[in-house]
Amino acid sequence: MRKARLPPELRVKKPQSKQKKKKQREQLEAHLQKPRGYRRFTPTSELPLERFDAQGQRVCRWCGGSLTGRQRSWCSVACNEAWLVRSMPSFARKKVLERDRGVCVQCGVEAQGRDNQIARELQKERRLRRGTLTRVVLRDHLKQHLLDILPRYGLSDPGEMGWQMDHIIAVEQGGGECGLENLQTLCTVCHRQKSKQQAAERAQRRKAVRSQGISLSGEMP
Ligand code: ZN
Repeated sequence: MRKARLPPELRVKKPQSKQKKKKQREQLEAHLQKPRGYRRFTPTSELPLERFDAQGQRVCRWCGGSLTGRQRSWCSVACNEAWLVRSMPSFARKKVLERDRGVCVQCGVEAQGRDNQIARELQKERRLRRGTLTRVVLRDHLKQHLLDILPRYGLSDPGEMGWQMDHIIAVEQGGGECGLENLQTLCTVCHRQKSKQQAAERAQRRKAVRSQGISLSGEMP
């Protein structure tokens, strides 16, 4: 599916502060310390650059199967992709889009198709207005136009656009570093709902552990 892009006026990204970048780096490092399966993605450093069998023959870096002809890393496209899906979020997302076409598995909304439509409408509006408005006025106009058309698509705020690649079995439950079988498409609204529910469940589990700890210590002399 080809993705339509929002007009450049609406694509501006806020620059990240140094502190935020530093925090993100620290979080990533902590995340990589987690055991296998409990991380979102496998760092590239964990796959050997080349792999050999007991006889010293070069074998597939992913499955260890034998290589033929000019193959040097992977015995098949499937093996190469199996690795890329686990190590490269952007590749996994591309594959999920190919399979699900951006349709939310929860509510069935065609999130990608809808967003493409919205982007096309905005591009059209931009072509119509760009000659007559200054850049700043055009940006504000397009922002307002986006807010005006969103209700027609069942949305109330631009933050509800888009879709998320969701882990069916949560990363926290050992579902990370997975193949496409554990990845699904959720629209932003459904994904927020799921995250909220998961957070509530986590809080409940923590509470249960705490109360157990207190009752155990209560039994001590
Ligand atoms: Zn949904």
